[in-house]
Amino acid sequence: MNRTAGAGARTAAVDVLVVGAGPAGLAAATALSATGVTVDVVDRARDAPPGVRGGVTAIGWAAPRTLDLVGPAGPERVAAGAVVLATGARERPRGARLVPGTRPAGVYTGGELIGAVRRGTPIGRRAVVVGGERISDTAVRTLRGAGVLVAAMVTDEDAPARRARTQPIARAVVTRLYGVDRLSGVGIRLRDGRTRTLSCDTVVFTGDWIPEHELARRAGAAIDPGTRGPVVDGGHRTTVPGVFAVGSLLNGSDPANSAARQGRSLAGPVLDYLADGAWPPDGPGASASIGSSSAADQLKLGALRVSPVNGS
Ligand SMILES: Cc1cc2nc3c(=O)[nH]c(=O)nc-3n(C[C@H](O)[C@H](O)[C@H](O)COP(=O)(O)OP(=O)(O)OC[C@H]3O[C@@H](n4cnc5c(N)ncnc54)[C@H](O)[C@@H]3O)c2cc1C
Repeated sequence: MNRTAGAGARTAAVDVLVVGAGPAGLAAATALSATGVTVDVVDRARDAPPGVRGGVTAIGWAAPRTLDLVGPAGPERVAAGAVVLATGARERPRGARLVPGTRPAGVYTGGELIGAVRRGTPIGRRAVVVGGERISDTAVRTLRGAGVLVAAMVTDEDAPARRARTQPIARAVVTRLYGVDRLSGVGIRLRDGRTRTLSCDTVVFTGDWIPEHELARRAGAAIDPGTRGPVVDGGHRTTVPGVFAVGSLLNGSDPANSAARQGRSLAGPVLDYLADGAWPPDGPGASASIGSSSAADQLKLGALRVSPVNGS
C-alpha cells in the first residue's frame, strides 16, 4: 500500500514502527520480529546497527500511529499498527544547566566527549568533569585514554562514591565558565558558600538526563512531571492508543541492561494491541494488565495490512 503523501513524502505501512535503536528499541524490535510481525526500526544516528534504517529522524505525527520521517532518501510517512517510542534521553548541556560565562571551545557533555574521542578530535590537556554518575566515570576514563589530565570531578552529591581513581569535590556546583576562544577555567561554589576557580581547558558536563520526550508529547501523551518521561502502565502503554514507550525515555536514567529488558517485555503488550486494538480506556493505571504471552498465538497476521516499508 505504498503511495505518495501530500507533501511529496512516500507512505509505507508496517505492523510496528520502532523509533530509536538503543538497547530498548533494538530489544523490542528483535522480540517483535521473532513473532512474525513486520517491524521498521529507525534511528537518527547514521551509524545505526544492521537492520536499522540509520540517519532517519521521526519529526512528527501525520495521524494517529502515522509518523513523518526525514532521512537520506528524503521525507517519508510510515503508517503503523503500533508505534514504539524508544528515543532515550540526553544529558543536560551546559546552557540548560544555566551555567553563565563565556562560550569558549572545550565544553562537552559526556556523550559529546565520547563521540569526539571516537572521531579522533583533539580534546585538551586538563579537564574538569561535572557529575557523580556512572557516565561521569566513563568520561574520566575516556579523557585519560585520550591523554587528558583529569584535574577534578565536581558533584553536588553529599557523599559521592570515589570511583575512577579521582577524589570528587563534593557538595559543589559549577557556577561559571572562563575563557575567550578556549576554556581557561571553571568557577565552583561549595555548599558552605566558599568559591574556587579550577584551571582547565576542558569541562565535561555528565549525566543529569532529560528524556527525549518530544515525540511522545507531540502525540498528546501525558508526561510525568517528575521524570519528564511519558506516563506508562505495566505494559508500557502511554495514554495514546497504540503508542508504547520504553527505556530511558521513561525516566532518563535507565541503565542499558534495564532498557533492553523493558524492550524485550514489550512484545506481548504490542501483539495484544495489534490483535484486538484494546487500550485502557482512561490511560495507564486504568488497566492492571501486563501484556499476555498468549497474544502471539492469538495474533491473526492475515487480518493486518502489511506492505513493504520504505516506499520501495
Ligand atoms: C556517553 C554515555 C555512556 C554511557 N555508559 C553507560 C554504561 O557504561 N553502562 C550503562 O548501563 N549505561 C551507560 N549509558 C547509558 C545508556 O546509554 C542508556 O542507559 C541506554 O542507552 C538507554 O537505552 P535506550 O534504548 O532507552 O536509549 P538510547 O540508547 O539513548 O537510544 C535512543 C535512540 O533513539 C534515537 N532517537 C531519538 N530521537 C529520535 C527521533 N526523533 N528519530 C529517530 N531516532 C531518534 C537516538 O539516536 C538513540 O539512538 C551511557 C550513556 C552515554 C550517553
